[in-house]
Amino acid sequence: MHKQYFIALIFLLSQFNFAQAPKKPSCAEIYESIQKLNFLGSVLYVAAHPDDENTHLISYFANDVHAQTAYISLTRGDGGQNLIGPELRELLGVIRTQELLQARRIDGGEQFFTRANDFGYSKNPEETFQFWDKEEVLSDLVYVIRKFQPDVIINRFDHRTPGTTHGHHTASAMLSVEAFDLAANSSAFPEQLKKFSTWQPKRLFWNQSWFFYGSQEKFEKADKTNLFVMDIGSYYPTLGLSNSEIAAKSRSQHSSQGFGATAVRGTAIEYLEPIKGGMPKNDVFEGIDTSWNRVKGGKAIGEILSKVEREFDFTNPSKSVPELIKAYQLILKLEDKHWRQIKLEEIKNIIYHCSGLFLEAVAKEPYTTVGGNADVKIEAINRSDLSIKLNEIQLEKFNKDLKPNQAYRSDRTLVSSAFLKPSSPYWLEEKGSLGMYKVSDEKLIGLPEAPPPYSVLFNLNILGQDFHLEKPVVYKYNDPAKGETYKPFVILPEVSVNVEEKVLIFGDQSSQRIPVKVKAFTDDLKGNLSLKAPDGWKISPENLEVSLSAKGEEKTFWFEVNPPKNQSEGELIPQLKVGIGTYENQLIEINYDHIPEQKVLLPGSAKLVKIDIEKKGEKIGYIMGAGDSVPENLRQIGYQVEIISPQNITAENLDRLDAVVLGIRAFNVIPELKFKNKILFEYVKNGGNLVVQYNTSRDVLTEEVAPFPLTLSRDRVTDENSEVKFLDKNHPVLNIPNKITSKDFEGWVQERGLYFPDNWSKEFTPILSMNDKGEAPMKGSLLVAKYGKGYYVYTGLSFFRELPEGVPGAYRLLANILSLGK
Ligand SMILES: [Zn+2]
Repeated sequence: MHKQYFIALIFLLSQFNFAQAPKKPSCAEIYESIQKLNFLGSVLYVAAHPDDENTHLISYFANDVHAQTAYISLTRGDGGQNLIGPELRELLGVIRTQELLQARRIDGGEQFFTRANDFGYSKNPEETFQFWDKEEVLSDLVYVIRKFQPDVIINRFDHRTPGTTHGHHTASAMLSVEAFDLAANSSAFPEQLKKFSTWQPKRLFWNQSWFFYGSQEKFEKADKTNLFVMDIGSYYPTLGLSNSEIAAKSRSQHSSQGFGATAVRGTAIEYLEPIKGGMPKNDVFEGIDTSWNRVKGGKAIGEILSKVEREFDFTNPSKSVPELIKAYQLILKLEDKHWRQIKLEEIKNIIYHCSGLFLEAVAKEPYTTVGGNADVKIEAINRSDLSIKLNEIQLEKFNKDLKPNQAYRSDRTLVSSAFLKPSSPYWLEEKGSLGMYKVSDEKLIGLPEAPPPYSVLFNLNILGQDFHLEKPVVYKYNDPAKGETYKPFVILPEVSVNVEEKVLIFGDQSSQRIPVKVKAFTDDLKGNLSLKAPDGWKISPENLEVSLSAKGEEKTFWFEVNPPKNQSEGELIPQLKVGIGTYENQLIEINYDHIPEQKVLLPGSAKLVKIDIEKKGEKIGYIMGAGDSVPENLRQIGYQVEIISPQNITAENLDRLDAVVLGIRAFNVIPELKFKNKILFEYVKNGGNLVVQYNTSRDVLTEEVAPFPLTLSRDRVTDENSEVKFLDKNHPVLNIPNKITSKDFEGWVQERGLYFPDNWSKEFTPILSMNDKGEAPMKGSLLVAKYGKGYYVYTGLSFFRELPEGVPGAYRLLANILSLGK
């Protein structure tokens, strides 16, 4: 019985707001939610990435208009940069998903996603749709529209100007324009209609802004007669906040993108261009009744709730409960399923908070394992004078009065369902493609995250009316520095296993000793560990006995890995057999103060690469720029790499080095290079070898990035498979010591390169030519110049992306660059 009960529970859960710490609204906030209860209208904002959304507009619709307001970000932003830590790709997507959820908790919106993956930059939507499955993304967008039923849709981007912004941006607007009509068409995605009805939104707008015009001045001069103008600079006296202050706080949740924002108070104008549904006169909801009269049977509810709003007592909100219960009973009877569901959830929460109730289920430990049980502490307290009975918790019957301010507390064990899986972001459970996540469980599509695994149902009776209130099981502890601290309660696998180094490069025939980490989340773990490698690779020993006595214990096991003779790539998979199960995944923890702690399960495997590579010179000096892992990667193929700090750039220190490499964006971020560049050029003149990787064309700290004139541009080649032509076949950089062929440009990731120079003096020899589809050939990706006795090389090729991914050709070409003149 227990098991079945749990499964039912999971699907009962309301779908939003799983913030780990419970919300404890003040009277002003309760009053705001009563106003929201009296508004029946909705807005959906559409864009491509976490941080594309206009938090001002979202906050305005949620807090001033009191509409149901949501943002759908087609992707989770995996392709962005991370300014707060090392997480990239899927782990960055996990962080940015949580940053969006935090932003919505602040501005009052809801959050949706599609299965589209942010695979990196694309120049236009055509390129984007080579990676996104257009039908699937469109299907998800239509699904969310049918579920959320927005009256108004607002696009962040213009659907008519491909090529003027990131391809994902234009694509998001194009899909939104299509979905606007398709959601109402019963022959589009008919399988969705088993769950939801068709839906026709009333209006579609494009949210214009000065940044689409290049500058504020140009936008001021632009013709705005076709734009709907809104002043959204509201001040909310009950909250003591301006709309822009809420918006700035919400925006500031995008820490990983460095989007901390400071509010400017006062009038704030937003411009909406009508795309579909015509220009409204005064209000985007014009023509829609957004009062309770919108739904059949709503009139009486509206009358009661207007009275509740009018007579709300800011010193004693429990006075509103009797009337709220009358309204609740009428909402229960509404025929309109959509609004009934939304408003029941809202009014239940309002009654809960007006009653001063506090219900909580706290696990005694931060996690349990699959199949394990959870010991929880229950607390139920009524901090009002209302007559409230606790009838039942889960399946246990009571008939207990919750006397004012007298807590009911108890301990119990929740039995796990065999169907529960480890807690990990649902969209990462299956292997997707470069452009799409794979999600087999249809119920999860569109959701920001899966519902929490355990929850407790409290059945109460408030003034004669039964209520079912569901609370997710949380974990909390007292932190000596921070006080009460909440964390999500999670389910973990019995064990995590991983090869720590994710790309293992073999530059010659020597074997390497590879550590494999095993961490137990259960007591008395015994198993057998082995490594699975591709053909030709030899592993010893064949397997190792693993024994961990207590949960939390971690041990490292060592294997000897021997590469094959020829160039070879493949996967090295750790396999830990425990009983009848085999574990291959590792658990990654993401811990930042601004988001709930995240546990992510990913394959524990590593990439094995044997490269046919020769090199000349050994000692490399590396000057770190904005941050990359190139020094580590060079060490992996046998170079001695010394990191040189800016203050240590001196002739004496450089003299003994075979080559000096500048990390990415060094000329953007190291102020000392304004004058120390001369020392670097002098080093070249005396026979050194200087390699400069990409810098952005804007914000370069000095004109002199090279000993000869060189102009940086925004030229980039984003198609990682674009053809590469050799302009100077016989140049040493393509021949010594490694013969470079077109094969060396296979298997590159994300892009070829960026910010190529577009102008250079005659001393430079351009080596390669490449371009994206439909563009002119670019020759600035690799420029070599002889200067004095040495060589200066400028390259926008994305070595910083290719080397960490173990792309053999990138290693071979870089080895040639470092060997110049040797
Ligand atoms: Zn974006």
